[in-house]
Amino acid sequence: MDDEQRQRKKERMIAYRAEHREELAAAERARYASRREDEAFRQRNREKVAAYKEANPSTVRETKRQEYAKNRETYLASFRAYRADHREEIAASKRRYAEEHREEIKAAKRAAYLRTRDAQLARQKADPNLPAKQAAYRSDPVHRAAAYCWHSNRRAEKYGTPGRLKAADVLTLDGPCAYCGGVAGGWDHVVPLVAGGENTLANLVPACYSCNRRKGRSVAR
Ligand SMILES: [Zn+2]
Repeated sequence: MDDEQRQRKKERMIAYRAEHREELAAAERARYASRREDEAFRQRNREKVAAYKEANPSTVRETKRQEYAKNRETYLASFRAYRADHREEIAASKRRYAEEHREEIKAAKRAAYLRTRDAQLARQKADPNLPAKQAAYRSDPVHRAAAYCWHSNRRAEKYGTPGRLKAADVLTLDGPCAYCGGVAGGWDHVVPLVAGGENTLANLVPACYSCNRRKGRSVAR
């Protein structure tokens, strides 16, 4: 067979395959189905597929991309359904991740904050409504509780005192000042953090500003 003949034969084969694409694919599927129970065959097949994927990463990526683009709505619906069915598990796994990577997350957040801090501060300073916004923020009890917790938690960490406060919990202590019975504008650690008091709700009472100031670092009686 000379080169020309060989070339013609190759072309005929390619043409045949193109013309009978569906039939050939069906035959291939049937052959695969007939050997589905053959574990050695399946293992060989898996290895072939893995080798192909390894050798053609960009083709695999492109195929996946096309597959996703073609069935985007179906995929999105199935993701949504999965999330709805596994809400609790997903929340638990997110909590676990946050717990296990607390330091990393903190560092990443800090780095992100530092990257944009100057621009943010400049934008805030340029805002003519800044004083009104600050006043509204300070008078909002939720924000006040959050700020109180933030400072308490930082100080507790500094002193190595156990406990961690959450704004939602702190807000449940909404009675009058525990020392003078007046209107409480904030909270106080009964045993101060610096004296080894725990940073927990059990060690916290509502307190007015002046009692809080007067008590300072002493233990309440
Ligand atoms: Zn008071």
